[in-house]
Amino acid sequence: MMISFEEASKIIGNAFRQLNLTTEKIPFDKALHRTLAEDVLADIDLPPFNNSAMDGIAIRFNDKIRKWKIAGEISAGNYDSYSLDENSAVSIMTGAKLPEYCNTVIPIEDIDVNGNKAVLKDSAIFKIGMSIRKKGSDLSKNEIAIPKNTYLQPRHLAAAASCGKVELKVFKKLQIGVLATGDELIPVDEKPTGDKIRLSNTYALLASINELSMTGINLGIVTDKKELLLQNIAEALNSEIDILITTGGVSVGKFDYVKDVFEELGVDIKFWRAYIKPGKPIVFGAFDKGNKTKLVFGLPGNPVSSLVNFEIFVRENINKIFNQPERERVKAVLQNDLKKEDKKRHFMRGILIKNNDGIYEVSSAFSQSSGNLVEMSKANCLMIIEEGMINPIEGTEIECIMI
Ligand code: AMP
Ligand code: MG
Repeated sequence: MMISFEEASKIIGNAFRQLNLTTEKIPFDKALHRTLAEDVLADIDLPPFNNSAMDGIAIRFNDKIRKWKIAGEISAGNYDSYSLDENSAVSIMTGAKLPEYCNTVIPIEDIDVNGNKAVLKDSAIFKIGMSIRKKGSDLSKNEIAIPKNTYLQPRHLAAAASCGKVELKVFKKLQIGVLATGDELIPVDEKPTGDKIRLSNTYALLASINELSMTGINLGIVTDKKELLLQNIAEALNSEIDILITTGGVSVGKFDYVKDVFEELGVDIKFWRAYIKPGKPIVFGAFDKGNKTKLVFGLPGNPVSSLVNFEIFVRENINKIFNQPERERVKAVLQNDLKKEDKKRHFMRGILIKNNDGIYEVSSAFSQSSGNLVEMSKANCLMIIEEGMINPIEGTEIECIMI
């Protein structure tokens, strides 16, 4: 049952939307790149008092009066009261509380000061109410400062701080387990001999998970023995994880047991194999445990395939449900011919640049073999070569996903 990219995407997207996101409270200053699960309200008026927007003098406006006697000085955080009339002013600093009696601030650039006398310059703009930040003008008490579902950026932490919101309710990180399969795999700190290779794809996946502010759990390596796979995958499915990603063992090789093992353990297989390249052997299913449904991805072992699968099927959905900014997509002009003879959807690796005329150009003068991870690490985009596009030639416009 090989399905199209579009169908695969729809099935996976629906499954992600049904994930039951739970929430937790965390210190606000640890909430960068998390997603807010409540509205944050202002607990006070912001700003809490009328204050000066400039360094200058505070006065009570009277169109006829152009010079003042400076009665004193108020800086931010050091309010002092003075008895004032229309002919007097106080020297005031940015952020300092405005005396009740005053209604206008004249910036320092617009006056000449001589001793304790200030005179308005002829060039000055002189208007009632100028250069004042009114109490509550930013936000009134009990108004929403940061709405629910906001993906928190540095600026939102400042807003939370102003509202005295020391704890924020956010959606819990998804726990994503990554299990590598393959007799050939050895740990990174060992030197491969004979027919062994170092485990690599796990690290790209864990780093991607981390980048998405989710929790990646390295479940290690399991060899291609069916009993061992059964045992390790059962353990993973019954742990606290929300999503299981396995790599390897989903093709049609003699020792590719992963899909059978999923089925034997009760995973509801939604599809096996999508008409894409790389990453065709992907198997996707759901596993019900108690009242929780876990998503199960069996990705191919090829480092490029597993990472491309992750990009197009996992990252995009996490971005959506957590309201994160999505990967940028741009249309670019192909700089070399590409070989693509089938009707699969290809995600080829490319190098994207913006030329001097502001036009995006994409080239891929290197191997598109899905085994070449080091080549992939030079690429900065995935070129989407759609199903109907056969052997696109130089000059063709191609949609690219920046990675
Ligand atoms: P498989 O999907 O198990 O048929 O593996 C396809 C190719 O990817 C083989 O060349 C494997 O050696 C390689 N491979 C599988 N798993 C990994 C891994 N975790 N890290 C690096 N390469 C892998
Ligand atoms: Mg294998």
